[in-house]
Amino acid sequence: MKNLWFDREARSFARRYAKQRVNRDRALRVYTSRLLGGEPALVLHGGGNTSVKTIMKDHMGQDTEVLCVKGSGRDMAAIEPEGLPAVRLGPLREMAGLKRLSDADMVNAQRVNMLDSTAPNPSVETLLHAFLPHKFIDHTHANAVLSLTNQKDGEKLCRRVFGKRMGLVPYIMPGFDLSRKALEVYEADPSVEGLIVLKHGIFTFGDTAKQAYSRMIGMVTLAERRLKKGRKKVFAAGKPPKRPKRIAPVHDVAPVLRGLVAAVGPRLVMDFRAAPHVRDFVNGRDLGRYGRQGTATPDHVIRTGAHPLIAPAPEMGGLDAFRKGTQRALARFVSDSHANFKRHKRRRKTRKTEIDPVARVILVPGLGLFGLGESAPDAAIAADIAETTIAVIAGAEAVGAYESIPAADMFDAEYWPLERAKLGDGGRGTLSGHVVAVTGAAGGIGAATVRAFAAEGAAVAVLDRDVRAARAVAAEIGGLGIGCDVTDGRAVRRAFDRVVKAYGGIDIVVSNAGGAWQGTIGEVSDKILRDSFELNFFAHQAVAKNAVRIMEAQGAGGCLLFNASKQAVNPGRDFGPYGLPKAAALALMRQYALDYGDQGIRSNAVNADRIRSGLLTGDMVKARARARGVSQAEYMSGNLLRQEVTAEDVARAFVDLALSPKTTAAVLTVDGGNIAAALR
Ligand code: ZN
Repeated sequence: MKNLWFDREARSFARRYAKQRVNRDRALRVYTSRLLGGEPALVLHGGGNTSVKTIMKDHMGQDTEVLCVKGSGRDMAAIEPEGLPAVRLGPLREMAGLKRLSDADMVNAQRVNMLDSTAPNPSVETLLHAFLPHKFIDHTHANAVLSLTNQKDGEKLCRRVFGKRMGLVPYIMPGFDLSRKALEVYEADPSVEGLIVLKHGIFTFGDTAKQAYSRMIGMVTLAERRLKKGRKKVFAAGKPPKRPKRIAPVHDVAPVLRGLVAAVGPRLVMDFRAAPHVRDFVNGRDLGRYGRQGTATPDHVIRTGAHPLIAPAPEMGGLDAFRKGTQRALARFVSDSHANFKRHKRRRKTRKTEIDPVARVILVPGLGLFGLGESAPDAAIAADIAETTIAVIAGAEAVGAYESIPAADMFDAEYWPLERAKLGDGGRGTLSGHVVAVTGAAGGIGAATVRAFAAEGAAVAVLDRDVRAARAVAAEIGGLGIGCDVTDGRAVRRAFDRVVKAYGGIDIVVSNAGGAWQGTIGEVSDKILRDSFELNFFAHQAVAKNAVRIMEAQGAGGCLLFNASKQAVNPGRDFGPYGLPKAAALALMRQYALDYGDQGIRSNAVNADRIRSGLLTGDMVKARARARGVSQAEYMSGNLLRQEVTAEDVARAFVDLALSPKTTAAVLTVDGGNIAAALR
C-alpha cells in the first residue's frame, strides 16, 4: 500500500486550518484521517476512526487537555475538524480504573465531557483512544489485515507476520471492555507500534500524525505481502453439475428476486455488481462454505446483515425454476434468522425486537451480487461492503480458510444500539425502497413529479428525449437520468431494462411525456394525426407494457399513472389531433386497470389543465389572455378556485394516487375546478 503523506500537503493543511483557529495537531489529524478514509481497502462508509490528544481552550478560556476523536459514523474521507469532537481527556482516562461500565453510562460520560455540547457523538471506540497514551492513534479495518485475522489460526499468522511490533488483542465487541483489554495488551509490552484486534481491525500509534499514519501503511503492506505469497487461484470454479450453460440476464433476474424479497419484508432498492472478482467469488465451488460465514468486521453487519442469501444460478429461459429455488432459499433464510434471533435473545436475556429478517446481500452464482437497501445509496453501501468482504475472503482463502466472528458476537454487533445509531432514523419516506420511473421528466410537470417522488424517499429514474436535461434533473435528486424517445418501442424497452439493472425493479411509472398538435379535424393531415397518436397514445402503451412486464415478474403489484388531459373529457375546438389520442390514452388507462387488477397492479390518471409548461408556453398564455380580454394572471386562474394551478400541484396528485392503495381506474382532476371538464 502506498504511503500518500507529503510534507508540503501537510504544511498546507496546517496553514489553511490555522486561519480557522484550528491548531496544528487537529489540522494534521484531519489530513491523515482523509488519507486513510480515501483508501477503500482500509475503511468504507464511516468505518474506522482516528484521534489526537491536544490542548484546546474551554468555555472559561482555560487551556484544557482534550481528545479529538472521530464522530460516530462520520466518513473520514471528507472529515472536517468539526467531525472530530473534543472530549476532556482527564475524565476519560480516569474511567480506565472502573471495573465495568454500561454502554449508556459510557455514552453519557463522553457527552458530558465534550467541549461543544452540539458536536456529534464521539466514536464508540473513544475510550480505547483515550486509555492509550499516544498522541496520534489511527484505526482502520484494513482488508489485508482482516484476511490474516479472520482465520482459525489468525493469531499465529499475525504473530508470524508482525512479530513483536504489534500487540494482539482477542476479539471483544467495541466499547469499554475492548478498551480495557487493549490497554492491558499495550502495557504488557509498551514497545509495540500498534495493536491488531482479531477479526476487527488494526490500530497504529505515533508521536506525530506522520508516524501513526506511516505505521498503518507499513503494517498493512506487511499483511499484503504475506497474502501475495498465498495461493494464486482462490475460488475454484464449480464443477457444473447443476450450473446452467446460459445464465439469464440481470434485467430478467432482478425483478424476480426483488419481488420475492418484498413478499417477506420491506420493499427494497437493489444495486447489482458483477466485476470479475465478484463473479469468481459467486461461481466458486465452495461458495456455500466461505460465502455464508459472515462479515469481516463487526461494524459491517448493520449494513449487510449477518449473512448473505445465496440464490440458485438462474438459467436463461428457466426463471420459474429460479423463482422456486430462490423462494425455498429465502424461506430457509428467514426461518434461520428468526431462530437465530430467538436463541441469542434468550441467551443474552435482552428485550430487543427483531430487525426485519431479509438479507441485505444476495449472491447469485453465474451472475454476480446484489446489495439491498431502503434507498439507492443504502443499497450501494451494502454492495460496496459485500465487495470488500469478498476481497477479505479472497485474501483469507489464499493463505488458509476464512472464518468470521462467532455467531453470538455477530448478534451482539448487529443489535448493538450504538452501532444501529449510525444508520440514523431520519430520511425514511413513505415511498422509501420504491422505484419510480417518470417519462417526459425534464419538463415542468415531469421534473416536479420527479422531485415529489424523490421527496417521499423513492429511487427515481428520469426518462426524457433530451438526455442532458434528464441527467440534470436526475443529478438534483441523486437519481438516474436516461435519454429515451418514448415513441421508439425498442428504446423504451432498453430504458426500462436500465432502470431494472440500476435499481432491481420498478413499482410506479408516471407516463407523462406528451405533445400538443392542433388542427380542424376535417382538414388536418393524416401525418399530424398519426404523429400525435405516436406520442400521445402509442408511447403510453409502450411505457405501460414494459412496466407491467417487470411488475408481473416481481409479482408484488404496481402502479401505472398517466398524464391525461382535459381534452380527453372536454374537447376543445381545433384540438382534435391532441384530444383524440388523449381520449384513447384514458381508455388505455382503464384497460390496464381491468386486465391487471387481479395482479395488484393499479392504473390511474391525472387530468390536469392550464399548467405553464412546454405545451402551454408564455407566448400562448399571452395570446389567449389577449383573445379573452383578460390579464395573463386572470387567464391562468380562470377556474372555480380562482387560483393558478402549478406543476407542483399536478406532481402532488401523482404522488397521492401512488399512495392510495385501493384506488384504480380513476381520474384525479387537477385544474382548480372546471365544471365542463368534470368527469361524469
Ligand atoms: Zn473498528
